[in-house]
Parts: sequence; C-alpha cells; structure tokens
Amino acid sequence: MRVGVYLRQSLDRTGEGLAVSRQREDCVKLCDQRGWTPVFYEDNDTSATKGVRPAYQNLLEDAEKGVIKGVVVWDLDRLHRRPIELEHFMELADRKRLSLATVTGDVDLSTDNGRLFARIKGAVAKAEVERKSARQKRAARQAAEAGHGWGGRRAFGYDPDDLPLEPEASLLRGAYKKVLSGISLHAIAAEWNRNGINTTAGKKWTGSTVRQVLINPRNAGWRSYRGEIVADATWEPITTEDTWRAVASLLNTPGRRAGTNARKRLLTGILICGRCEHPMRSGVSHTSNDPIYVCKNCHRNSRRLDPVDGLVIKLVKGFLSSPLADALLVNPNQGNLEELRNEEAGLIGRLKQLGVDYAEGLLNGREVKTARERLETRLSDIREQLINTNDQVFEGLIRTDFKWDSLHLDRQRSVIRKLFVPTLLPAGRGRPFQPDHLSIRWLPKEH
Ligand SMILES: [Zn+2]
Repeated sequence: MRVGVYLRQSLDRTGEGLAVSRQREDCVKLCDQRGWTPVFYEDNDTSATKGVRPAYQNLLEDAEKGVIKGVVVWDLDRLHRRPIELEHFMELADRKRLSLATVTGDVDLSTDNGRLFARIKGAVAKAEVERKSARQKRAARQAAEAGHGWGGRRAFGYDPDDLPLEPEASLLRGAYKKVLSGISLHAIAAEWNRNGINTTAGKKWTGSTVRQVLINPRNAGWRSYRGEIVADATWEPITTEDTWRAVASLLNTPGRRAGTNARKRLLTGILICGRCEHPMRSGVSHTSNDPIYVCKNCHRNSRRLDPVDGLVIKLVKGFLSSPLADALLVNPNQGNLEELRNEEAGLIGRLKQLGVDYAEGLLNGREVKTARERLETRLSDIREQLINTNDQVFEGLIRTDFKWDSLHLDRQRSVIRKLFVPTLLPAGRGRPFQPDHLSIRWLPKEH
C-alpha cells in the first residue's frame, strides 16, 4: 500500500523543533513496520507560516485520486495549523477511507473519540503558533532596540512600533484607490519599482507581492481574518474598512489574476471578431509593420489598430460627456450599504458558530457542511454587491473635461469594458476602416 509521508519543518527558528531528517527517519520506520510504501511530501517553513503549502495540496490531491491510501506524519500538528484544514482533511479521510498513522500514536478519525482528540490537538497547535509568534515579535523588538536590526519583518506601511510610516502609508492608500479604479497590480508594482520603493525585504515589487500587502487586514486595523477571528487592533488603520473590504473581495475574486507582462493594447481581448466571435489579439502587420488587431482563432479578420482605437475612444468620451452618463453616478446599492455590511458580519458570525456547534456535538458533519455551503453562497453574493457599491471606475470622468491619455491603460480598458462590447465586422481585404465596421453593443446594466 502506498502512503503519503508528510514532512514539514518546525515553525520555530531557534532550532528546538524537530528536524525534517529526524521526522523522515521515524516515519520511514513506521512505514516499514506496517509494510507500507512511503511517498514523500515536504513543505518548508516559510510557506507553511503564510498558510501556503504546495506539498500538502499535492498530498490531498493524490489522496483524492487514490494514488495514496493513507497518510503518515510525525505528529498531527505537522499536518494542520488551522482547525478548518483539519475539518477538510477529516472529510476527505472519511470519504476515501484513508489510514492515518502518526509516530506519536495513532489517531483513528473514523471514531468520535479520535476526531475529538484530533480537534483538541488542533486547537492546542493553533494556540502554540500564536504564542510563538508573540515570542518572536518580542525577541525581534529587543534586537531592534539593542541596535541589531529587525529580526522579524515589519509590515509595509508601518514602522516597527506599528505606527503608519510615510511615504509607504500614502502609497498604500493610493494603491487601494487604483485597484478600485481598475488598474492592475502589475502596473502598481511597476510604478513603485520605478520610484525606487522596495518591499520591506528590500526586494522589487511584483503584482503578487503588491496583492499580499493590500489584502493584509492590518491595513484596516484588524488583527486577523481568514473568516475566523476579526479583532480590532491597537494600531492605526491606513485605510477604511469599506475600502479594504472592497479591495480584498475584488482581489480574492476567482478569475482575477495578477497582471501579466504580455503586451496589451487598448482593445486586446476586448474587441470581438465579427467572423467567429472570439476576442481579438494585437500584433503587427507583416506588410506595413503597423500595429493591428488580429483574430488568432479564425485568422480571417485583422485591421489596423489606430483607427479602431480612435473610434472607440471617441464613443467613450462622447458617452461620458453626455447626460446619459449621469446614470452611472447613481449607485443603486448606496442605500443598502449599511444593511449589506451588517448582513456580512452576521454571516461571518454564524459561520464561526457552526464550528462551535459541531465541536459540541449539536450538529453533525453533514449538517455543518450543508449549512456552511448555504452561508458561504450568500456571503459571496453580498461581497460582490459590496464591490459594485465601491466601484470607482468612473470617478472623475463623468461630464468633466478629462484627458483620456492621462488615464492608465488598465483604467481605460476597465471603462470600456463597463460600457460596451465592440465587435469588428469582417470587411474586404485592404479596405480602409469605416465606422460601420465596428458594431457596438452597449451594456444595459448600468445605464
Ligand atoms: Zn475570428
């Protein structure tokens, strides 16, 4: 029988934790005794602290696929750091009839007692992590005071005493605004890099590190989130609760990826091919070297880019300066804001309560699962509405004399996406572009 042996470094940097080599040795011995064939999955210290554990994910996938029939781990606390992970694992173990063996003593997840034991161990492990991080923080502060530099890493935007630090705090505030107005994380990263702003680790920014910084709940004055504990902190928030929530929901929206380096034009991926209805790409004409939009699906539709962009920009500006655009200013959700936020808080509370009810045996696993699904569906609806409420794409653009060229490309693209879908109709080869080659479908939702 093949079993997954999961190894993880200790979170403790002082070295008092159990080395991976020792864990591996003990687990292999255990597999030998039982006649199991070990397959190793190993995560490192840093990723585990951040809650990202690629090897652990692989282990779950392999268990799901039936590649491994059991899991061996030195101690349960290697396997899970958060109660929710344990719940997921128990559900999987149950469904796939996984064996679980630990060097420190077996845990039978198929019995109530075994599950209870696992949960208690989980709670203890969690408390342990929190204690350790407090200890590390203290040690780091002592080191800083003694002039040894900062052992742990301060958060971007805050000094080591948790006070907002300029210019970082202002940069963060600006970045929240930019994200809400449709500018990509990649563009923000590029701008910070251009201005010589580094991460607190002294590195260059990427879209993904900007994202990490923005979704940190500490910027809104909270201690912790992940849907579990949300407590007020002692430090000063950099942004408002509303803004943070809107950005965090936006960035957590599945399907949104950090900006890529691919060369983008105004209508790349927005302009639709009138022949095959696929989004068109941009490229360069082989004959004239001019930039063009081209369909890489049917290969039978392409046009010089400049006149198409010119017409689209004219349409957008015309619309935004007309009385029709006033409708965009009226936010249909404005009055509901408070209500939505209350409901969101209520749902988070009920989700938390589910765990308690489960631990106390008031609900069984199936009931918790059903209830959780229902609550989470509603929660994601509400979060989407909150995003729309905070939508700032059109801020400062309606019936003002703004300069289109002064807007960032990402924002220009967001504006177009919100207004209409442009389709490039096929025309004879070599024919110059005419306005009626472009068909515009205005999006009705907002006006
Ligand atoms: Zn096509």
